[in-house]
Amino acid sequence: MFHRIISILTGIFLITSLSCGKSADATVPVDIVKPVPIDSTALKNKFGMPYYFDFISTLKKEGFVFWDFDKFYTADKSKLPAKLIVIRHDIHGRDINGGVKAVQIEKSLIGKRAATYFVQWADPTELTDTGLQQAYLAFINLLKSDSLDIQPHISANDLYLYYDTPTWRDKDVTELTALFNKYYEIKVINDSTGIGTRIITKTVDTMNLKGMNTRLIEVLKIYNAKWETATGLKPKYYAQHGSHSPINLVLNNAVVMDQLSMLHSGTYLFDTYNTWIANYLTYLSDNNIPSWIGNPSEVKPGRYQLLMHPWVWDSYQKSQSISKTAQPVDWLKSRQTTKKVQPLIRK
Ligand SMILES: [Zn+2]
Repeated sequence: MFHRIISILTGIFLITSLSCGKSADATVPVDIVKPVPIDSTALKNKFGMPYYFDFISTLKKEGFVFWDFDKFYTADKSKLPAKLIVIRHDIHGRDINGGVKAVQIEKSLIGKRAATYFVQWADPTELTDTGLQQAYLAFINLLKSDSLDIQPHISANDLYLYYDTPTWRDKDVTELTALFNKYYEIKVINDSTGIGTRIITKTVDTMNLKGMNTRLIEVLKIYNAKWETATGLKPKYYAQHGSHSPINLVLNNAVVMDQLSMLHSGTYLFDTYNTWIANYLTYLSDNNIPSWIGNPSEVKPGRYQLLMHPWVWDSYQKSQSISKTAQPVDWLKSRQTTKKVQPLIRK
């Protein structure tokens, strides 16, 4: 299946936005890059992605261990390693070929259960690109052959809007913000009912968010069934996508999936942005091209969720300035409820 080697011009992709919300490039071919044989030449070439190779090997030498989310979820949280990196890859079309390299680097330097690959298969905004959908499935098959942890990278809001037509569907961000702020309040909960979010209706549920949640649970079940049919795997948990849909800029996917009512629905075990996870793992994201990509020793000892987009590391240049793009996860910083976040960077 992976016989034809294609070349990906990362330079072209570099000029596009780094944002998670940018649609995957439609030029992604059906066939994905072929893994190179693991031999001395491949090791010498650091599997063609030297910054990721050096990042893992440097932090490994410093005593870090690397897990996938399955291992993290099932682990005794009172006995987590002091230096832990739970690796999360969000795989958009542009990340596939770098993803093949990441698999090889992890296999070579870490071994099994090193990372979870969250693949954006069947996102409603990309469905018409059938070549891209096939490329995702080809990549999932490659991951399957290595028995890796593969889960969906989804946008709850976009999935919901694909199946339902709420009254606010065509409103812009300003209108949605005014509407949401007038009628709702987001509350972080940490009590006997659980750790997560509750969206409180102040007076009237004007946007019918209760109905949205009910429908979304049905939609997730439909999505999970489609995923299982296509891949032969059962989705267990998700990583939310930073969609640029207006509703997502007002009521973020991460908040939607952090609601206790959603978490208690039994449709998924967790989402990687859940508040309870932030209580154990500090969020470390490559979204703004941070300097620690090129200088891994800047990462202080601690426990992290590392969001790694293979395309970013595959295209990384040390001379790149740090982007000033807004972090799509600013809301997360205020949500780490039980533990003060340590500074990420060693000064
Ligand atoms: Zn994304």
